Amino acid sequence: SEEKSLNFIEEIIENDLKSGKYQTLVTRFPPEPNGYLHIGHAKAICLNFGLTKKYGGYTNLRFDDTNPVTEKTEYVNSQQEDIKWLGFEWKNELHASDYFDELYGFALRLIDKGLAYVDESTSEELAKQKGTPTTVGTNSPFRDRSPGENRDLFERMRAGEFADGSMTLRAKIDMASPNMIMRDPIIYRIKREHHHRTGDKWCIYPMYDFAHGQSDSIENITHSICTLEYVPHRELYDWFIEKLEIFPSKQYEFARLNLTYTVMSKRKLLQLVNENLVDGWDDPRMPTISGFRRRGYTPESILEFCDRIGIAKRENLIELSLLEFCIREDLNKSANRVMAVLDPIKLTINNYPEGQTEVMTGENNPEAEDKGGTREIPFSGSLWIEREDFMEEPAKKWFRLAPGAMVRLKHAYIVKCEDFVKDANGHITEVICSYLPESKSGNDTSGVNVKGTIHWVSAAHAQIAEVRLYDRLFSVPSPDAEEGDFKDYLNPASLEVVETAYIEPALAGAAPGSRFQFIRKGYFAVDKNSTPEKLIFNRTVTLKDSWKK
Ligand code: ATP
Ligand code: MG
Ligand code: MG
Repeated sequence: SEEKSLNFIEEIIENDLKSGKYQTLVTRFPPEPNGYLHIGHAKAICLNFGLTKKYGGYTNLRFDDTNPVTEKTEYVNSQQEDIKWLGFEWKNELHASDYFDELYGFALRLIDKGLAYVDESTSEELAKQKGTPTTVGTNSPFRDRSPGENRDLFERMRAGEFADGSMTLRAKIDMASPNMIMRDPIIYRIKREHHHRTGDKWCIYPMYDFAHGQSDSIENITHSICTLEYVPHRELYDWFIEKLEIFPSKQYEFARLNLTYTVMSKRKLLQLVNENLVDGWDDPRMPTISGFRRRGYTPESILEFCDRIGIAKRENLIELSLLEFCIREDLNKSANRVMAVLDPIKLTINNYPEGQTEVMTGENNPEAEDKGGTREIPFSGSLWIEREDFMEEPAKKWFRLAPGAMVRLKHAYIVKCEDFVKDANGHITEVICSYLPESKSGNDTSGVNVKGTIHWVSAAHAQIAEVRLYDRLFSVPSPDAEEGDFKDYLNPASLEVVETAYIEPALAGAAPGSRFQFIRKGYFAVDKNSTPEKLIFNRTVTLKDSWKK
């Protein structure tokens, strides 16, 4: 069997477990509930939950909800649903906002140790004091307040005595540090905002850096895994833990997932939703987990993708086509083949007894181990076929229908094109064929060999469906890297709606979420809004990578 080499985080963990540094591995997935989760989060979910699956221990789900402005219960619920759908179970559901009292206590502890002070500088003054990376900063005039005075002011900040923005609590570290983040960072601000869980209990809120590491420590997180932009924050993360003398969680950073032809920040995805450029967070073109689900992706395909890309230490850009490859591989084995005509023209068989129908038998999936069983497909002398399967003046090596040419109708008979009909505009409306009665699939004694096979649906039996053909959301590989607004690079052809497609009657009651291969057309999933009265299919992915570079 193939031994996969360890990624750098697994190496660290194996060493930590071997040396006895930790007995039990505890990780967490800490989303901010300010949007729906995207494929980048899936990567972090696979990593955090995957480690405790492999090495034992457990993973917490912690909502990093210390910023009251952007957070909503809708997001909390969708994030939970998406993690479960990927197949992971968290040990504890926790909310950083549950630690507000404890965090407040930590702040008092720093104040009492002379390591935090209340500052009345304006934000402009604060920025000026910070200095630049090449110069040292300057101390705030409020830096030397006594612990007693700081405690009094901070308690009154909490009590609501001061206006929003009039004061902050700052850690007293080093205004000359080469790490800008260590130059007396703000740890609390006054903000009269309603919080989706704590309501109006608080008018002061901790900053991310003060909440995150302490939340890790409160939960005894052993390995706190985050993305590379937090490398400069690690020094502060360690400083708080050391000064507060709390459980020593350790932060490790990996490269975030970037994917071609999309954007991956919740803030940007929210713009697309708010400006109605997509049909909500779960629009099948969105890189969200719910968007992929609605589009027909399986959890397995996303896990496989995350596994294949591995854990990197340097920023990189992953090809969307790799994700598409993973879903194709999965659906090739699991999706039943059916026939659907997306751009129909009539095919009439002039020697098939008028009004007669018969039932053909189709194998559901030649790629499945059990072949997926069979289904019945009604056949008649009046069919729908794909417009592109007929050429009035055939190209060289054309093996489909053309005047005088023969093809096999999949699971049925060989037909020969005898004639065709055009409308006033010169559009083909009907192809007239004869059939070879002795050429029935599985029982062909005609002795005739044809090179082409086309799909069809019996007109009298066809179900009508709306089919949504999705393509890439952006027309450039890196919309974030382009000049101007990322929304200028949306792909105008990312959705083509086929209002009237004809599909086999076997799909009549297809349940939302079920997945099929439309023979020769691609993989399709039944949309969440599909009903037996109005069937809707979303194209998950084409059969082959047909994107023109
Ligand atoms: P966004 O800007 O998309 O909202 P974020 O990092 O602010 O990203 P969080 O909700 O804070 O979003 O993320 C939760 C976890 O998911 C964090 O640990 C974060 O590092 C991780 N994460 C977010 N985006 C990615 C990504 N593109 N690749 C890998 N991990 C990611
Ligand atoms: Mg974040
Ligand atoms: Mg964010």
